[in-house]
Amino acid sequence: MFDVIVFGKGPAGIQAALYVKRANLNVLIIAKDGGALAKTEKIANYYGVGTISGPTLLEAGVTQAKELGIEIIDGQVTGISMDLDENFIVDTDHARYHAKAVVIATGSPRTTVKIPGVKELEGKGVSYCAVCDAFFYRNKHVGVIGHGAYALHEAQELLPLVGKLTLFTHGLPPEVVFPPEIVVNTQKIEQITGTDGVEGVRLADGSTISVDGLFIALGSASSSDLALKIGAMVDGSKIVTDEKRHTNVPGLFAAGDCTVGTMQIAKAVSDGMTAGMEAIIYARAKK
Ligand SMILES: Cc1cc2nc3c(=O)[nH]c(=O)nc-3n(C[C@H](O)[C@H](O)[C@H](O)COP(=O)(O)OP(=O)(O)OC[C@H]3O[C@@H](n4cnc5c(N)ncnc54)[C@H](O)[C@@H]3O)c2cc1C
Repeated sequence: MFDVIVFGKGPAGIQAALYVKRANLNVLIIAKDGGALAKTEKIANYYGVGTISGPTLLEAGVTQAKELGIEIIDGQVTGISMDLDENFIVDTDHARYHAKAVVIATGSPRTTVKIPGVKELEGKGVSYCAVCDAFFYRNKHVGVIGHGAYALHEAQELLPLVGKLTLFTHGLPPEVVFPPEIVVNTQKIEQITGTDGVEGVRLADGSTISVDGLFIALGSASSSDLALKIGAMVDGSKIVTDEKRHTNVPGLFAAGDCTVGTMQIAKAVSDGMTAGMEAIIYARAKK
């Protein structure tokens, strides 16, 4: 059991973990890659570093955390839930972890799916959260759009309830092994059909497969996907917090680009500090 698990090793996540570790608590960082900094060529507006490349700043943060003894695990968080003692259960593509408090610092959301019909049918059969909506599709035929660990996680949430599950990889090869009861379709999707609700998935060869609902699980779980799984409020693609970076779920904090506000390093670091300090208070108080 960790005192605090932090999702993300960007400025917000590392800063949160530094505070937690220096309070002598047990902290784990889980991150799937270098986030926004890995894509940033040049930064010249952050205090004290002159002009620096994103990857260099990222490496400096990771090194600082490791030198302090913070464990950083490469992995994709695919799910978050709570046990009966109100501790967090965190699922990744490799393992399951437990923590008293969690800081989500997963950065700006991935680009939205550009498949015609998805946007129009959101909330009318298109869902982003299997654990939230699986119950509505008992014994029905549902589709999952995705091809990796996150799609597998969502499919596993759905399988015990639905009648049939088709995985649509949208032209990509499956990255993981899916259970044999899942029908895998690798064609590109042309359109999601339906007006008042999802009716089917039209494929590149012109055929349409009828489905009652569709779960989007492309790429990895975005910040708002993760927040929704545990009942945290979101505003569009951002996680809603108060000024102390508390979400509406006790023990769950969010920091940086995944929250409302300026998407800059200085703000992410400030958020990370606040979320880390609040997570310390929460974890210490929790038996
Ligand atoms: C091209 C570009 C240029 C920029 N230039 C500047 C600049 O000059 N100055 C400035 O101040 N800001 C700049 N920014 C913005 C700045 O990089 C971000 O504001 C900052 O990195 C946000 O920090 P963060 O920790 O919130 O998120 P990120 O740095 O994006 O880190 C997110 C972390 O979450 C992890 N993650 C996400 N999903 C999962 C998951 N499901 N499971 C596990 N881990 C996950 C990622 O792997 C990553 O480690 C730029 C951004 C870009 C893209």
